[in-house]
Amino acid sequence: MHTPSTQPRPSIYYNYQVFKPWLSSQNPPQPKHKVVIVGAGPAGMVTALELARHGVSSVLLSAELQFSQGSRAIVFTRRSMEILQQVGVAHRVTENGLPWRCGNSIYRGQKVFRMETPHDPDDRFFPMINIQQQYLEEYLHDACAANELIDVRWGNKLVKAENIEGGVKTEIDTPEGPYTLETEWLVAADGGRSEIRSSMNLKLEGASFESIFVIADIRIDLPYPTERLAFFDPDWNRGNTILMHREPHGIWRVDYQLSPGETPEEALRPESLKERIDAQLKMIGFEGTPWEMDWNSVYSARTLTLPEYVHKRIVFTGDAAHLLPIFGVRGANTAFQDAQSLGWHLAFVIKGLAPEQLMQNHSTERVGAAREIITEAGKSTRFMAPPSRGFRLLRDAVLSLSLTQEFVRPLYHWRTSRPHEYSSSGLNSPHDDNAQFTGGPALGAPPQNVLLQADNYLLDHLGGGFDLVFVADAQGIPSEIAQAVARIQQQGIPLKLTAISAEAAPLAGAHQTLQDPQQRFADRYAVKAGGAYLFRPDQHICARWQQLDAARLLQSLQVACMQ
Ligand SMILES: Cc1cc2nc3c(=O)[nH]c(=O)nc-3n(C[C@H](O)[C@H](O)[C@H](O)COP(=O)(O)OP(=O)(O)OC[C@H]3O[C@@H](n4cnc5c(N)ncnc54)[C@H](O)[C@@H]3O)c2cc1C
Repeated sequence: MHTPSTQPRPSIYYNYQVFKPWLSSQNPPQPKHKVVIVGAGPAGMVTALELARHGVSSVLLSAELQFSQGSRAIVFTRRSMEILQQVGVAHRVTENGLPWRCGNSIYRGQKVFRMETPHDPDDRFFPMINIQQQYLEEYLHDACAANELIDVRWGNKLVKAENIEGGVKTEIDTPEGPYTLETEWLVAADGGRSEIRSSMNLKLEGASFESIFVIADIRIDLPYPTERLAFFDPDWNRGNTILMHREPHGIWRVDYQLSPGETPEEALRPESLKERIDAQLKMIGFEGTPWEMDWNSVYSARTLTLPEYVHKRIVFTGDAAHLLPIFGVRGANTAFQDAQSLGWHLAFVIKGLAPEQLMQNHSTERVGAAREIITEAGKSTRFMAPPSRGFRLLRDAVLSLSLTQEFVRPLYHWRTSRPHEYSSSGLNSPHDDNAQFTGGPALGAPPQNVLLQADNYLLDHLGGGFDLVFVADAQGIPSEIAQAVARIQQQGIPLKLTAISAEAAPLAGAHQTLQDPQQRFADRYAVKAGGAYLFRPDQHICARWQQLDAARLLQSLQVACMQ
């Protein structure tokens, strides 16, 4: 019998709610479900919300009765916010989070590099925003609980999953004992220690780094702005690295590297934690400032991924699919992109709008993304925690040269999580004018936001299906384009035609007309009147034309749906 803890988790700033378990004895007999999602972390909840946006219902299982312990992921990127906007929770993060865009690297007490990520006026969201993962999970959960297509089941632990003909048979344990459930598809979003992954004997590929880091969240009043602080080779922790981040509610994260040979058990002793935190505070000039511990943990960097995410009807996503170092804020930020991709691919297959082969495209694209992240994050990890004597020599040379030489300072650059470009995706259209473009997002690229008018951005209006964004002139929408869009919609494919116009008046044939008096869309997307962009449901570009015609639009949608 599964007995999750009913004791609220300890925290000095977050009140954990303990939810009631879902019990099969209190519910009608279970039909075969479309999708069961195992794990109500960031990946599982965004997958459920994305599926619901496409009209697909799901059962969302959480082994626990409360949100995750400790702040865990605290830094969320602009692209994550754009994804969260799609599922209706970005405004809550904006209201409660701390936006930022600058980072400082300090070597032996001297500031050697300042990173300033540009904040383009065309972007609605800051490059980064800090909020603790429990809050993010709470906002996502509120959205899931309010959605009638999502059946959230607290205290339900999946204990067995088996691929069978046309679906998956599962066994789920609860506080009143187990029950069985059949589903057409099972999403394994059960985190880094995925038992589904280990029960299927699937091996992650890649590397694990030996260096161990401690994360300690403390409440303290420090007069610093919300910027990332990285201390290399500081007096009290020679040869190692320390990071500091401001979190909401007066919390600071102190993240420090241990010397080789020190065990996590030793490092997490209260005296050891106190000694290190006091040393760090002394180094930055706040010796004796009172502080209080909220949560601490240890981690080591890993760059691992499954080589395939789709195993018949079981699909891995988020940390269950890959383990990425937290340097560059890869964990939850990558999970959102996985979930957004999975949501539409799976919905299209379930609704019969695309063959099952489309799931293979999801796997190929997201494994490609994980591998790209692994290459990039591996570089950051080797800089933060050199894995060998050779790497340390090189890193230390950069550090000491940076005291006097400007040219080496950019080597500190923190490669932050960014969305993968699906440049070689099989869904990219060969029936477009991509080669004729001299700017704008290319095939496979994520979208670029555009400030159309005050507090009115392009991405506020896109999403939920394919989007055809057409640059209109005084002639409006050509009737052959409007007719082609209507034909595609009759086939059940969600496609919205958005006209970009200098005028406010709605244009006939368009589902919506966005007024763009300064022609910012045309500039940013390097396209003139008569041209258009086709966005996939995850907003990546799959076709673009300098001069759109109906036949090539139809062909491109067939390619994007693998028909
Ligand atoms: C200590 C720690 C610190 C971290 N710090 C950072 C950081 O600073 N920055 C960063 O970007 N990332 C950080 N991460 C990583 C980040 O938290 C994860 O990348 C992110 O949570 C991934 O989301 P997920 O949904 O894939 O997995 P998880 O958030 O792990 O969610 C998995 C969910 O599945 C549930 N579950 C597991 N097994 C079952 C089962 N059999 N049945 C039902 N439910 C099940 C779990 O209870 C959990 O709710 C940290 C992680 C940890 C552990």
